[in-house]
Amino acid sequence: MSGIQAKIVVLGGDGIGPEVAGEAARVLDAVAQRFGHRFTFEEHLIGGAAIDATQSALPQAAIEACSSADAVLLGAVGGPKWSDPNATVRPEQGLLALRKALGVFANLRPVTLHPALLDASPIKAEVLRGTDIMVVRELTGGIYFGEKRRTADSASDLCTYTVEEIERVARVAGRLAMGRRKHVVSVDKANVLETSRLWRSTVEAVLSREFPEVTLEHMLVDAAAMHLIRRPASFDVLLTENMFGDILTDEASMLAGSMGMLPSASLGAGTLGLYEPIHGSAPDIAGQGIANPYGTILSAAMLLRHSLNLPAEAQAVERAVARAVDEGVRPADIAAGGPAAGTREAGEAVIRQIMQ
Ligand code: NAD
Repeated sequence: MSGIQAKIVVLGGDGIGPEVAGEAARVLDAVAQRFGHRFTFEEHLIGGAAIDATQSALPQAAIEACSSADAVLLGAVGGPKWSDPNATVRPEQGLLALRKALGVFANLRPVTLHPALLDASPIKAEVLRGTDIMVVRELTGGIYFGEKRRTADSASDLCTYTVEEIERVARVAGRLAMGRRKHVVSVDKANVLETSRLWRSTVEAVLSREFPEVTLEHMLVDAAAMHLIRRPASFDVLLTENMFGDILTDEASMLAGSMGMLPSASLGAGTLGLYEPIHGSAPDIAGQGIANPYGTILSAAMLLRHSLNLPAEAQAVERAVARAVDEGVRPADIAAGGPAAGTREAGEAVIRQIMQ
């Protein structure tokens, strides 16, 4: 078997970011050893740490390194030190600038539940069993990016979508559905919003033309919010525009019980992607070595699958995390009163499983 070469940029960021990203990078290194690949890692600053060092939330050196990399692994950004809303430079600007520089427009958030963690969720185990959802959220259009206006007694935010913006994200959903259970639920508010009516007809056209085997169902966002809680196991791929996706992904993350377990990927037109856990920098537990690194390690698995086209290696990492949890290596957020594993210990358990 001939291995591949890849350059991976690691942006630890702030708070627990460097701790969890460090473990994920070590796991990727173990994958390279085990499967005969050559991965090189380059660390750069982002967020508050970058502001402190360079007065910019995403220094030019980081942008250049990311743009020429095969994939970018990110921890998290932000924290109380940089939280002044009136500050001219803020950590989240680094994230937005990075997404823009990489041209990523589709945010993928898989929600699966390890059977041993069914009881960690506020939802009943019998409702959750079998849940395996891939949420695909459009990331660069819609109301968050439209023109904003403010007068003394009114305000407005413009929501705009072009056919092309909808087509490209619908294609991502269709492609993912083909490798899964071939079912897409597309979320909109077509009974009141014009952008939603365009969303609906465009998604319909792309899927029927390019993915005729995929079953498409349209669902209003309010109904989707309800069904996610009522029958989560019935969803396969959930496709949604930017703001609806922002809200529904947070709701879906609660199904898994802890944010510490959930990965994400942001993809563009090519293979270069951005991979990060869904949680933030958790300043309340930063520096203590107790953060759950599994969400970031599972993001590294997505990196192997989507940017490096190494599906077997991705699966090996996912299996290794599941086995580590089975073995009882559970960080505090999923320990359910039992002994809690540290960040490094959890990373080590995954590496041990991979090297077996
Ligand atoms: P958070 O996700 O950082 O933390 C919420 C709670 O979950 C905390 O109690 C935290 O300890 C816990 N938690 C989160 N990740 C965990 C992990 N891996 N293991 C164990 N426990 C974990 O959200 P927050 O407290 O609202 O935000 C903190 C900072 O992070 C803020 O500055 C916010 O702006 C930033 N943030 C960044 C991102 C990002 O970088 N993508 C996302 C969300 C929030």
